Amino acid sequence: MAITEQELRLDGNAAAGLLRDVFVHEFTSVRGACATCGAEGEMGAQHLYMTPLSPGAVLRCATCGSMLMVVVRAGGRFRVGLQGLVWLEMQDEGAAS
Ligand SMILES: [Zn+2]
Repeated sequence: MAITEQELRLDGNAAAGLLRDVFVHEFTSVRGACATCGAEGEMGAQHLYMTPLSPGAVLRCATCGSMLMVVVRAGGRFRVGLQGLVWLEMQDEGAAS
């Protein structure tokens, strides 16, 4: 008997453990790919634009200058937009080496 899509689907809360493992990393060493030019590199090697009094920051691709991500801190919350990244890659600290 085949497994249906509905049987495979979980509530999004089931991703809590996985997402907790993903988002604990030192972000500067995380690698990503630019959605505009395809350049790959560590986030710490990209160009950051922010001013001391601004509520947020823009990270731009060091190769083509396109926006990779936006982080806004206001009202007791963070809002993160990753619209310029195709993917992010980080070491799985729980994996056997
Ligand atoms: Zn780029």
